[in-house]
Amino acid sequence: MRRADGYYVQFLVNASNKVDTELTGKMVGLDVGIKEFYTDSNGHTEPNPKFYRTGSKRLKFRQRRVSRKKKGSTNRKKAINRLGRVHLKISRQREEHAKRMARCVIQSNDLVAYEDLRIKNLVKNHCLAKSINDAGWYQFRKWLEYFGVKFDKITVAVNPAYTSQECSNCGTLVKKSLSMRTHTCQCGFVLDRDWNAAINILKLALSTTGHVGTWVQDPNALGDSTSTLIGEILLKQVGSVNKESPWL
Ligand SMILES: [Zn+2]
Repeated sequence: MRRADGYYVQFLVNASNKVDTELTGKMVGLDVGIKEFYTDSNGHTEPNPKFYRTGSKRLKFRQRRVSRKKKGSTNRKKAINRLGRVHLKISRQREEHAKRMARCVIQSNDLVAYEDLRIKNLVKNHCLAKSINDAGWYQFRKWLEYFGVKFDKITVAVNPAYTSQECSNCGTLVKKSLSMRTHTCQCGFVLDRDWNAAINILKLALSTTGHVGTWVQDPNALGDSTSTLIGEILLKQVGSVNKESPWL
């Protein structure tokens, strides 16, 4: 695999070396957004790492440098190489961050629920900041499922339809636009929009009677070759959650 700063060899890592872990008695639903890295069903918000913002600024700067150089010139080649290096650096930072977050969430919970978002729907946009965000979320999910297997925890991807619209208290659909940050229901329930969604995500996971992991690795679909990293592992996790869960 060729990278801006050299060639890499891809290693296959044995994912079956499970680790014995004790149950925490906790479970969590995660809602990913643009504003925050995620908001969980306990109301905790994990901010986006700083490099998401600074990184996109640097990318824009390097991209402009490339476009200003004459096509076919040596200077343009140099500028392209520099742009590639910035891309690569951000991609690695993002991967490290996603991995660290995922390990932490998995180790602190017995069940982790999140939305089954599809790559196709998210990568259609051309906004740089948002695409960095999306790629980070896919890496996060990949590592959640990886650590889920490794630490013998349950991970559930739920259908994202209505998770932000439904009232987590009474189930009524409360329509809201993206700019409406607070969920206000006629039942009197008022909560931060993402927090309400995270609760719905957890609830959905707990009402799922069986789940087959739907994560499909398709690096090309991300439109960002830097998202395929060394040691990337494809995980297929079949977890099952039923209503007799000891957590209920
Ligand atoms: Zn309500």
